[in-house]
Amino acid sequence: MDLSESAVNSATVPSLDLAALVSACVERNIPAISPWRDLIAPHGAAAARRIITDAGLTVAGLCRGGLFTAPTEQSRHAAIEDNLRAIDEAHDLGAPALVLVSGPIIERDPAGSRSMIRTGIESILPHARAAGVALAIEPLHPMMAASRSAVTSLREANDLREAIGEPEVGVVVDVYHVWWEHDLIDQISRAAGHIAGLHVSDWVTPIHNELSSRGMMGDGCIDIPGIRARVRSVGYDGYVEAEVLSEAWWSVPPGEVLDVVRSRFITAC
Ligand code: ZN
Repeated sequence: MDLSESAVNSATVPSLDLAALVSACVERNIPAISPWRDLIAPHGAAAARRIITDAGLTVAGLCRGGLFTAPTEQSRHAAIEDNLRAIDEAHDLGAPALVLVSGPIIERDPAGSRSMIRTGIESILPHARAAGVALAIEPLHPMMAASRSAVTSLREANDLREAIGEPEVGVVVDVYHVWWEHDLIDQISRAAGHIAGLHVSDWVTPIHNELSSRGMMGDGCIDIPGIRARVRSVGYDGYVEAEVLSEAWWSVPPGEVLDVVRSRFITAC
């Protein structure tokens, strides 16, 4: 694909601070980044925005909000408050969307946990609408159901999005999480007009660690060009974001990682 479509998620090269990530992307003609909140925290969102845009880059999205499942009313309220702050940060940063990692199944209650997630999203929706920030539900692979997200497929994210039924709620298609879905093509079509992000990495077996065992694009079994083409065909015009959370790649100097990311955008996406 063309590099003009590309973005880098800061978790791909977590050893870089914001200024270093920005200049590394500028050097490689990568036009956008998606920072995690901890990367912009030292600056504040408004100052971070200036660092990014003064360099000519764009913010693709902010990672992350969500984590709505919690055992007590007090802890659920705290999660809501944190999400409201994240929405404000996304607004000040100029991020079009806040990525939501929904929160794990808790207390052996999948249905109750999913209900908490819906309630949580509906609770922050008015604030997101006022801020002009989309809420992007990112389904995670089912191996993370007990640790990060009770929403485990694009089908389920679409169900949730449609149940809420508000235009500010969209979905992220992360190929690592949804590549295995038997009806992925249909679910991408179903999400048309509501896709708020496309994340890429690859599935390389064996998976050693549910969080940080992602492969580099082109090294695994995911049809990234095919999924990208399908997402484009239903009207998604945002960035293709490399999000390679990988202990193996984290041990490589970040400049080398970004060189490989850049070349794989061109040859494997
Ligand atoms: Zn992702």
